[in-house]
Amino acid sequence: MPPSAPSDREASSAGSVLIGMPKTPRASAANAPRRQALPYARQLVDEDDVQAVVDVLRGEWLTTGPKVGEFEQAVARVAQAQHAVAVSSGTAALHAAMFAIGLKPGDEVILPTLTFAATANAVVHAGATPRFVDVDEGTLLIDAAAVEAAITPRTQAILGVDYAGQPCDSGPLRAIARRCGAVLIADACHSLGAMDRGRAVGSLADLTVFSFHPAKAITTGEGGMLVTSRSDYADRARRFRNHGIDGDHHTRAATGQWFYDMVDLGLNYRLTDFQSALGLSQLRKLPAWLARRRAIAARYDAAVAEIAGLRALSVRSGVVHARHLYVIVVDAKAFGMTRDDLIVRLRGEGIGANVHYRPVHLHPFYAARPESAAARCPVAEAMAQRIVSLPLFPRMSDGDVDDVIAALQRAAKGARA
Ligand SMILES: *Cc1c(COP(=O)(O)O)cnc(C)c1O
Repeated sequence: MPPSAPSDREASSAGSVLIGMPKTPRASAANAPRRQALPYARQLVDEDDVQAVVDVLRGEWLTTGPKVGEFEQAVARVAQAQHAVAVSSGTAALHAAMFAIGLKPGDEVILPTLTFAATANAVVHAGATPRFVDVDEGTLLIDAAAVEAAITPRTQAILGVDYAGQPCDSGPLRAIARRCGAVLIADACHSLGAMDRGRAVGSLADLTVFSFHPAKAITTGEGGMLVTSRSDYADRARRFRNHGIDGDHHTRAATGQWFYDMVDLGLNYRLTDFQSALGLSQLRKLPAWLARRRAIAARYDAAVAEIAGLRALSVRSGVVHARHLYVIVVDAKAFGMTRDDLIVRLRGEGIGANVHYRPVHLHPFYAARPESAAARCPVAEAMAQRIVSLPLFPRMSDGDVDDVIAALQRAAKGARA
C-alpha cells in the first residue's frame, strides 16, 4: 500500500486523481516535506494478528473450517444482525446481496453516483440496471427526494452508501422502500461499527454489506461480509458463495451423504479460515480503533473550522460516525486555490490527499450506457470537483495529524499571499 505511486505530473493532470502519492515528496518552497509520505489509509496488523493467522495455517482447516463461522458470529454481534455470510471481498458481498434478493434483467436498483464503482458493478453483474441518483450537499449521502423521484415499477432495491462512515438516514429510505415494495440494502463498506440512534449499522437495512480491504476499518487482506435479519437472504447468499450448492460439506459428512445438489449458478466467493482468524483478531480492536479515528477527526474538525474556504461534511444528529474518511470541501474562491491545486500541494508535502469519488456514471464504462444519460446528479458532479480526503487511519500519530493540519494552514496562507 498504496498500490500506485503516480508521478507529480499524473497527479496534477486535470481530473486524474489517483490513489497513492509521489514516492519522494518534493520540497515546496521553504517547507520541509515529511521524510515519509503519509498515505490516506493504512491497515494496522500487530503480532496478535500474525499469531492468529499462523495458528490456523498450522491447523487442519485452511478454508470452510470453524474460523469462518466464528468470524461471522462476531461480526453479526457488532452489526446487531441475526445472520452473517463471510465472502471473499466487499464486492462479492454486494454481488451476493443482488443474488439474495433475486435481482434479474430488467430490474432496477437505485444508488448514489458518489460511490466506489463496485457498488454499481454488482447491479450490472446481476443483469439489472443501476439508477444513479444525487447526494445531499452537506453529508454526501444519498438524497431521499432523488430516490423517491427515481422509483419506477421496475425498482427492486434501494442501495444506500454510508459515505465516509456515516450511516444513511434509513428512516425515509425504509418508508420509500416499503411503499414501492423494494428491498433496502446498505453498502456499509465504510461504516462497520457506526450507529444511528442507538442501532448498529447492520440492523438498519434489510441487507448490509461490509468490506475488509486493508483501507477499511478492519482487514482480512481481501474479504467481505453480508449481514441480514432474513434467513432466506442468508441461505441464498451462502449458496451463492459456494457454486450454488445446497447445504455444506459438514452436514453431508455428519449424515454420511456423498452427493450434493447444485441448485443455483453460484461462484467461489469463500473467505479462508486464516483470513477469518485475522478478521476475528482485528475485530477485537475495532472499538479502540474507532475511538482513535474519532479523535483524529475531532482535531481535523477544529482545524478546518479555522480555515476560510474549507469545510467539513455535516454529521446527522444521533449518529455515531465510523470515520472511515475525513473529507473536506474546498470553496476555491474563498480558499484562493482550486481543489486540484490543493491536492498537488499536499502531495508535494508528502500528505496523501485523495478523492472519493469520481461519480460512477461519469466513468467511461457507465458514461456510454443509457442509464447514465438519464442520470441527473448536479450536486455529486459539482462536489466531486471540490472534495479532498485527508489521511485518516488509527496508526497515525499525533505528529502525523499535526503535519496534515500544518500543511493545510500553509496552503491557506500561500493561497492568500
Ligand atoms: C471498498 C468498497 C467496496 C468494495 O469492497 P472490496 O472489499 O474492495 O471489494 C464497495 N463499496 C464501497 C463504498 C467501498 O468503499
